[in-house]
Amino acid sequence: MARMDEQTYKIIRGMKTIQRQHPQKGESKWYYLDPRGATRIADMGVIDVESEYAPNPYAREILIDDMKRHEEDYYIWRTKGDEKVRASHEEREGKVYNRNLPPDGGNPGEEHNCRCWEEEFKFEKMKNVDMIDLLEEIGAELSDDELYDRMWENIKRFEDIKTYPYLDTKGLITIGAGANVNNLDVFLSLNLTVNGFSATREQKLEAYKQLKWLSEQKDEKGMYLYYNRRAKFFEKETNVRLPDVEIRQLAQRHMTSDLKHLRQEFESFDEFPLPLKEILLDIQYNVAGGLSEKKWPKLYRAIRQKDMLGKEGIAENVNRPDVGKSRNDWAKGMARSIRF
Ligand SMILES: [Zn+2]
Repeated sequence: MARMDEQTYKIIRGMKTIQRQHPQKGESKWYYLDPRGATRIADMGVIDVESEYAPNPYAREILIDDMKRHEEDYYIWRTKGDEKVRASHEEREGKVYNRNLPPDGGNPGEEHNCRCWEEEFKFEKMKNVDMIDLLEEIGAELSDDELYDRMWENIKRFEDIKTYPYLDTKGLITIGAGANVNNLDVFLSLNLTVNGFSATREQKLEAYKQLKWLSEQKDEKGMYLYYNRRAKFFEKETNVRLPDVEIRQLAQRHMTSDLKHLRQEFESFDEFPLPLKEILLDIQYNVAGGLSEKKWPKLYRAIRQKDMLGKEGIAENVNRPDVGKSRNDWAKGMARSIRF
């Protein structure tokens, strides 16, 4: 099937408003078509909205219905996975797209020299995180859980996730996705295991004491000996381990307070474009003390002015000195994709 004109497609899939020529009493000037359950345009329902750009309140339900009924319109973007894949396509790996609403540059294989391909889409196999870009594309608001899923994907990509406790560069006991568990009560409250069985309080205490002991050791010059070891060094120092589901839960607590903090910092956080939300959540997650205007004045100003690419823009102000290059490059790339 030939690709339909994008505007027409959006109208008949309930993604774009239509203007009523002669609104009757009680009718709005603008409405969306509701394609759910209809096979012909004449059978589609209407959803009245306040204005031309008001979001469709049923955007999410319509998208899900559409994905079930028109699986063939969707695909999973796949790359060759080697170093020749351009960065903009690497970002798309594993995500679901609608063939009628291709991202910049077109569907896989359409851009010059692109070796990417489309994997068949099956609704039943779809995960929450695969759908987030599509929801963003049609202007549906993401739930907090979807934001957390998205954030967790980023954290997994950039944080070195450890199942064993280790000392960070400041000598604090850390575990999982960079969670600070230096406090004894916090450490004892972890659902740690030893050889697959729940660790006893004594086993946890022993591990804690061992790490504390290591954190106090200095060389003859008075320098701490174990503050800058690779995390891997600590794997053999204790036998306690944190199961994956606990690691996710620990991160969840962190993410929940991060989102709360950002909503306090930015009044209109919920209206920000998804890439900006993701960048801010990522910074908030791993910067000590969190985001504040005092520490990030340029970033705050750029956000207020909705300046993405200028010299003083968002893309130039998301750099963090203590995270790797790939994480900074990611943030910069995300900033470039922001559309207010
Ligand atoms: Zn490609």
